[in-house]
Amino acid sequence: MFGQMQDVSLQVNRILDHALVNHGEREIVSRLVEGNIHRETYADAHLRARKLSQALQKLGCGEGDVIATLAWNTHRHFEAWYGITGIGGVYHTLNPRLFPEQLTYIINHAEDKVIFTDLTFVPVLEAIAKDLLNVKGVIIMTDAAHMPDTSLQNVHCYEDLLDAQSGDFNWVEVDERAPCGMCYTSGTTGNPKGVCYTHRSNVLHTLVGNSADVMGIRSVDSIMPVVPMFHANAWGLAFGAPAAGSKIVNPGPNMDGESIYELLTQEEVTFSAAVPTVWLMLLQHLEANNLKLPKLENVTIGGSAVPRVMLEKFERDYGVAVKHAWGMTELSPLGSIASFKAGMETMSFDEQMDIKVKQGRPPYLVEMKITDDEGNELPRDGEAFGHLMVRGPFIVGEYVKGDGGEILDKDGFFDTGDVATLDPLGFMQITDRAKDVIKSGGEWISSIEIENIAVGHEDVQESAVIGIEHPKWDERPLLIVVKNPGADVTKEDMLAYLEGKIAKWWMPDDVVFVDEIPHTATGKIQKLTLRQQFADYTLPTAESAAE
Ligand code: AMP
Repeated sequence: MFGQMQDVSLQVNRILDHALVNHGEREIVSRLVEGNIHRETYADAHLRARKLSQALQKLGCGEGDVIATLAWNTHRHFEAWYGITGIGGVYHTLNPRLFPEQLTYIINHAEDKVIFTDLTFVPVLEAIAKDLLNVKGVIIMTDAAHMPDTSLQNVHCYEDLLDAQSGDFNWVEVDERAPCGMCYTSGTTGNPKGVCYTHRSNVLHTLVGNSADVMGIRSVDSIMPVVPMFHANAWGLAFGAPAAGSKIVNPGPNMDGESIYELLTQEEVTFSAAVPTVWLMLLQHLEANNLKLPKLENVTIGGSAVPRVMLEKFERDYGVAVKHAWGMTELSPLGSIASFKAGMETMSFDEQMDIKVKQGRPPYLVEMKITDDEGNELPRDGEAFGHLMVRGPFIVGEYVKGDGGEILDKDGFFDTGDVATLDPLGFMQITDRAKDVIKSGGEWISSIEIENIAVGHEDVQESAVIGIEHPKWDERPLLIVVKNPGADVTKEDMLAYLEGKIAKWWMPDDVVFVDEIPHTATGKIQKLTLRQQFADYTLPTAESAAE
């Protein structure tokens, strides 16, 4: 027996319908690859997305077809998502920072039929075109005046395609559980794996993402999603903004401090979301030029752990409230966020930072637990750390084409591959990726915690901690540091700085200084490469232990 309420399908295109009817005048501002700033409204975007749906149908695309985008955050990329899903197609975001072989693998594995590309990435596609098995056409996201000479076959100009349509089009209705979007994990080991979102999962994620204790964006907000649409679903903001009716400010290809500052100020941005690296560049720009951020109220930071110094700077020096979030491609991506609970608003600044530095608590619809190697649940005491497991309606159930086999435990929880603690108030803190954890004398040392403290040193730009083989302890931590330009910090300075801030047995056995720390295509420290780089490294303590 069923209840008697309307069974309206949770289709993402209805989000844009809502924006058209209720926020049609609200702006989408984009910095374009061509160099100019473009402005349109949700009403314009709705019409252009419908025209795109028509154009895609005329190109032979239909329900269930996977259509890729290789693009920065712009109004065209936004329209493309809705145009694709409007015909029952599946948007598939490609990360341009991946190696050509990985891109080829992903495009073929997903069976992409058409690829939308920004001008910037035409050469990337040209280089791999001959290896693409299913691609029938390429749409270059520009106007006729900027169309490049290209060796690509079956090429179309985005604006010309739109100009040729009437816009008289109704979205194709699909089941809410039909595929809607696709994104591949960055695959630091082995091939990347595909995650296929449904309309329903994206809509549920939107409701959760927009709720007050999560990102909490409102119609009065001007939001800047710096987090790319090609990585982890842009944290859901391409759905969240039109659902709320917020103004969108797209940074396009320019994510340096100066460009971000310019848009934040000119477009009176009140909310933004990005990974720590982007904020680091912005803060350096602000400090170097003695600038402030009078309009910016909230930033959500995630993707990697937020260093405490960054939190403190935003909150104390710039009056911007930070929410530290954790998530992953497999979670659509939001899994937790560090919003206060009752009583925390009146705590001291330091106590508040102690809370905000954690990755936060799961919102409703995300269940979380930590387990030991045998799958037994560990206590939520803020001390025990174990495998972080999650369950919910916008969390992956299996990878595309069943890659990786069964990925849920017997209770339906997905193993995130992260290691974390959960405290009695429900706040989760990531201590490591399971494969990066340092095992010393049978105990685990959190590399992330040491890294976060080390970057608090005024002479340190970035730091990474990896485990190095040790004859007595199995592994001991090595601290790897990139100094700030012109800084002159020594191993002894670094160790003295860490003293008292971490347990004695967590103290790195050595400190090395390097020019650069390698990063993955999604901006995370590439621990695997670092471990390979330091494979032959002998710790000074190893020699004495071996004697
Ligand atoms: P991706 O799917 O590329 O977004 O990567 C997800 C992974 O990024 C997670 O499994 C974590 O290891 C890491 N990550 C995301 N957010 C955070 C955070 N706030 N702190 C630490 N690690 C994070």
